[in-house]
Amino acid sequence: MPNIFVLPSHISNLIAAGEVVERPSSVVKELLENSADAGSSSVTMEIKNGGVSFIRCTDNGSGMDKEDAASAFLRHATSKIRAESDLDTINTMGFRGEALAAIASVSRIELMTRTPDSELGFSVMLEGGKIISMQESGCPQGTTIVVRDLFFNTPGRRKFLKKDSTEAAHVNETVLRAALGLPNISMRLIKNGSTSLHTPGDGSLKNCVYSLLGLDYTKNLVEVQRRENNISVSGFTGKPETARAGRSGQYFMLLGRPIKSKLLFAALNEAYLGFIPAGKSPVCVLHLSMPPDEFDVNVHPAKTEVKFKDEKMIFHLVYHAVRTALDSSVPGKSISVVQSPALPLKTATEIIGDQTVISPSGPMSESFSRISPQVSREPIDLADSSPSATPYPGTIVYTRSEIEAPKHAAAAETAPLQPQETVCEKIIPRHRYIGEALGGFLLAETKECLWIIDKHAAHERLLYNKLSQGGDGLMSQQFIAPVMVTLTASECDTLVSHQDFLKSIGFCLEMFGQDTIAVRAGPCELEHEDIPSALSRIAQLLCNGQKPDLRENALCAIACKAAVKLGRSSKHEDMECLCKRVLESNDLLHCPHGRPVSLRLSGADLRREFGR
Ligand code: ADP
Ligand code: MG
Repeated sequence: MPNIFVLPSHISNLIAAGEVVERPSSVVKELLENSADAGSSSVTMEIKNGGVSFIRCTDNGSGMDKEDAASAFLRHATSKIRAESDLDTINTMGFRGEALAAIASVSRIELMTRTPDSELGFSVMLEGGKIISMQESGCPQGTTIVVRDLFFNTPGRRKFLKKDSTEAAHVNETVLRAALGLPNISMRLIKNGSTSLHTPGDGSLKNCVYSLLGLDYTKNLVEVQRRENNISVSGFTGKPETARAGRSGQYFMLLGRPIKSKLLFAALNEAYLGFIPAGKSPVCVLHLSMPPDEFDVNVHPAKTEVKFKDEKMIFHLVYHAVRTALDSSVPGKSISVVQSPALPLKTATEIIGDQTVISPSGPMSESFSRISPQVSREPIDLADSSPSATPYPGTIVYTRSEIEAPKHAAAAETAPLQPQETVCEKIIPRHRYIGEALGGFLLAETKECLWIIDKHAAHERLLYNKLSQGGDGLMSQQFIAPVMVTLTASECDTLVSHQDFLKSIGFCLEMFGQDTIAVRAGPCELEHEDIPSALSRIAQLLCNGQKPDLRENALCAIACKAAVKLGRSSKHEDMECLCKRVLESNDLLHCPHGRPVSLRLSGADLRREFGR
């Protein structure tokens, strides 16, 4: 007696439906994809009770003729692939020919459809996958599919559905993601009779984002655009200050299809390293485009997970695209956030000595290089700007000749000013260092503000900037006697097998027994006692693989270990100098891990707190 039977089609359809149709939002996704594939320019999705009792999708696409309308619901019925080779060149949203069969097998369906060249359309009714009626009918061009009573014949599946409001939220997210992927199509979602989403369909991604995600989201975006060979990424990424907890604001699309990819999440995260605090996630709407043979969406029936052929290349492309966009939008690889708002010192380069002002006043987010073309030498009446021109106690006011203004100004006219070193050096110091408090916080006063600086974070950022400007060969010091470092055997192995890389960041080392390394040279910034922890961190980074920012992370580790520690005493003069650097330069806002370097309390804040 044989034990193996081939399942009848209605059972195998139900099983297949389990993969494709999990909940109303999966139906919505498939219907939207079909409408997009049919060349529609407008699609309306309407749901009731979270889509459980009613989903109607109306499009103005190609429609179907009588034969297609009948066969669309057969399993493996598709107009999108014919031959095996088509699988490599798919450019439609669907292609499995499974969706309508799967949806039909667990619901009651009504289809109305008409092609542009026929005067009459057809309507087809199905129940549990079986056609119960089919007739000619008058209908507009395009296709309308109504899906009622989802899972009416599989009560077990229906039990897994959540509250209507939860299902409706899933539908909302599905339509939103689909709409972001297809700015050429005007999409509308109507929930229980009222419109909740509506995109213009004018092809502009920004208009589409605005209509779906609102003004706050849209106004803080930076444009992203990069192409390498025939692969491109474009769209928008959020300014660092819009980072939030969780990935809810991240949207990735591949050829218009919303996708999820750990690789893309990772590339985005890496690009924001140093721009946003740890634990926060950036927002983005990014479209990827590449030839169909560069990826496989066939890895999962719902087609949301993607496997890229050349993962490394995609990672680099997205990383650099986002990083470049961020770099161009934010000066000094840092961000202006609430903790470090604009300070007069940093917003303008003022030369007060003889009432000549080289002052492109503007927010701190204007980088120095962008400031330079606006340099003005118009005399400004200081009476008007007296608050900022009045020196504070302890201020040293340079005279014009000391500042060499003519040379400065002439240079500015011809070539863009170089950041910090050339400009900041000339800024008049207008702060007073007060001292160190609570084992590591530096206090300083500027006009109307009290500043609290985290000395470790500040020093770490300073060292990191210095190290990362050092080019390929970092300043390294030879030790008279090698420094012996005991690590785990695998850390030792990893380090010894990456000698070239370690040399490029200043280390020269060799194995000394099984778990000890003899370090013959190290970066000048590192004290002997900090070498083991720095090497251990670098070994960890090396174990995690060759990421594009491996070097950056390794320099971060060196800077972190070399920086002054909280809780340890530091020389007054050193801290005074560090404080001066923080308050007078434009690139020490965040430590390389993204934590703020300084906090500011304004006089107004204090007066308010004290009820004055
Ligand atoms: P697939 O999309 O994978 O081909 P489906 O089961 O989703 O499979 O659809 C089967 C076929 O029905 C499609 O290939 C298409 O020819 C046709 N079809 C489905 N929806 C529409 C629509 N809205 N407009 C025109 N044709 C459609
Ligand atoms: Mg389909």
